[in-house]
Amino acid sequence: MAEIESALRGRGHEIVPLKDKPELCIINTCSVTSKSDYESRQMIRRAKRVGAKVLVTGCYSELNKDSVRAMGVEDIISNLNKDNYINGLSVGSKSKGLSLLEKSRYILKIQDGCNSSCSYCIIPKARGRSRGMEPSKVIERVRLAEEAGYKEVVLSGIHLGQYGNLTKLIEGILRETNIPRIRLSSLEIGEVDDALLEVFKESRLCRHLHIPIQSGDDTILRAMNRRYNIEEFSKRIFNIVKRFPDIALGTDVIVGFPGEGEEEFENTYRVLESLPFSYFHVFPYSQRKGTPASKMGPEVGSREKSLRAKRLRDLSLSKKTRYQMSQIGRTLDIIIEERVGSGICRGTSSNYLKVQFPDSGMSIGNLILVRIEGLSDGVLFGVPVN
Ligand code: SF4
Repeated sequence: MAEIESALRGRGHEIVPLKDKPELCIINTCSVTSKSDYESRQMIRRAKRVGAKVLVTGCYSELNKDSVRAMGVEDIISNLNKDNYINGLSVGSKSKGLSLLEKSRYILKIQDGCNSSCSYCIIPKARGRSRGMEPSKVIERVRLAEEAGYKEVVLSGIHLGQYGNLTKLIEGILRETNIPRIRLSSLEIGEVDDALLEVFKESRLCRHLHIPIQSGDDTILRAMNRRYNIEEFSKRIFNIVKRFPDIALGTDVIVGFPGEGEEEFENTYRVLESLPFSYFHVFPYSQRKGTPASKMGPEVGSREKSLRAKRLRDLSLSKKTRYQMSQIGRTLDIIIEERVGSGICRGTSSNYLKVQFPDSGMSIGNLILVRIEGLSDGVLFGVPVN
């Protein structure tokens, strides 16, 4: 969405919030879970209600063209033709996508598609084979973001690790731009190799990696068609933490995958408990039509799935709290994201922690050093230091 926004701005269009009744609304849909499908439909309805012409792009519209058309949208933009379509857009002065660009960080999608075939995932079908943006174009975009005042660029993709030579690309960005922070969105464990870890010695790389595990049980991982086992995964995670002890490590986990009995779930729980993750996102398995997993069994009941999800979310919360507490007394570099009430700002650290601190008058998007003093209601607080 960030690229669409910047392409439209570059053509002189004004980006306005939905409440300002835009002439055109571009909706980037997602189809990772049934919930994303539902949210995609909701966004289309909201845009229609304000009277905007609606253009829809993304996985949900690729996979459900007929039903999306039946909702009365103006057009569906194919993922492969997105750039050309946006370049040719001719609208009045107001156009707005529903997904808001975060002003403090520039999210740069440098890769699309996926060559893997996880048995639960519909994305390879919707997005096709992996392809990456030309390195020179990536560097140019980062330079433009830097000139526009962004302090952080997030390199993202459907399967970022399949970009090509990601390490070389990062070295190029480090060499040819002065962007203060570079964050990587999500990588598979096998993609975090020694060469990539070497570039993490450079402090401009955010001390944060998100590495999906999906299950802590080898039988389930095989059924998911994931390309690692738990022994290998754990060894690599401990190696990362050994080299970068302060790094924030996040993960995704699916609960209730077909065939996940008590034993398999308990294995997942134990593995997640033992690994040095600072948070995890928990997804109750939801069946995607047309995937191999949709024909697998036995299914896990929805009540059981919710109970398992709750246990893992509780575990995630306690690990996150432990990680937050370990930061008290440290000084973190924070990008200021918003003012949250009288005299208080909030921002995110390089190691992906939300921090609140007294407003020192600096503008949103700037970098500030904050000494962490404590934790209150799940958010760290601190004081700016000179
Ligand atoms: S790696 Fe697996 S889960 Fe991720 S996009 Fe590819 S197929 Fe889907």
